[in-house]
Amino acid sequence: SIVVTGATGHLGRHVVEQLLEKVPADHITAVVRDEKKAADFAARGVKIAVADYNAPETFDGVLSAGDKVLLISGNEFDKGRVGQHQVVIDAAKAAGVALLAYTSAPGSLTAALADDHRGTEKAILESEVPYALLRNGWYHENYTENLAPVLEHGAVVQAAGQGTVASASRADYAAAAVAVLTGEEHENTTYELSGDTAWGFAEYAAELAEQSGKEIVYNAVPAEVYTGMLTGAGLPEPLAAILAGVDASIEKGELAVTTGDLSRLAGRPTTPIAESIAAALKG
Ligand code: NDP
Repeated sequence: SIVVTGATGHLGRHVVEQLLEKVPADHITAVVRDEKKAADFAARGVKIAVADYNAPETFDGVLSAGDKVLLISGNEFDKGRVGQHQVVIDAAKAAGVALLAYTSAPGSLTAALADDHRGTEKAILESEVPYALLRNGWYHENYTENLAPVLEHGAVVQAAGQGTVASASRADYAAAAVAVLTGEEHENTTYELSGDTAWGFAEYAAELAEQSGKEIVYNAVPAEVYTGMLTGAGLPEPLAAILAGVDASIEKGELAVTTGDLSRLAGRPTTPIAESIAAALKG
């Protein structure tokens, strides 16, 4: 089987949809926390397994020898993600899976956000399970999914100076994952995945202005102003600090690295940011 954890998340849904275009539904297992959220997949013949990274025993019997597994990193920052991921790594080792692919972070990223990913990569290497590290860059959707305040205030506010980001759409990263899960000879390989081109926030604001017909500027602010704005909007302080750390990394060029790995795996160019803006504005 091809097994996908986090299958009812944003990225996981894209992966399962794209797998369904390539392999029979009953060759796919979606690992989910809440079976109800996967009812649409089940209706199409995808096998469903209910398991939680916080409960190791729930992974008993979920994985089998020869499976190709995609471990999608969790989003519970306060629960020790390396330990959560270790649960899946241990289950993969015990079962004797053929491949464990993991959605990691770029090798160039030094922000605190990368720590859990480096820790998980280390655990995967130590397990000696055949692996593929999918070091995903930043999503377009991190920006385009939250356009309402930008359009309202006429400003893109970031603490990234004149830094650039080689982002790509979630569907692009899913295409790379699907290529690895359905292809051959990806064992023990590390891919640095990103969009084909890096863009800056001034450019992004100009594109938004053009497409929306509104005046929109880029307002580059210091990290303290940015975290204050995020906590003011209701984000918990630790998360705001993590996001400010990512912007500092963007300013240093750490998310601008373009290797071409993503478009090579997907067999097509990555989605331009302008296309994701257009899709978001259409709603
Ligand atoms: P989502 O938040 O949409 O999905 C996270 C998935 O992880 C969900 O399916 C969720 O399950 C699952 N999950 C969380 N905790 C557990 C748990 N304890 N046990 C089992 N499953 C769990 O994120 P995306 O799909 O957009 O992105 C995937 C991952 O990539 C994120 O979780 C995060 O690690 C990382 N990320 C990357 C970004 C980037 O720009 N590269 C940006 C943001 C996140 P459920 O569906 O039940 O909620």
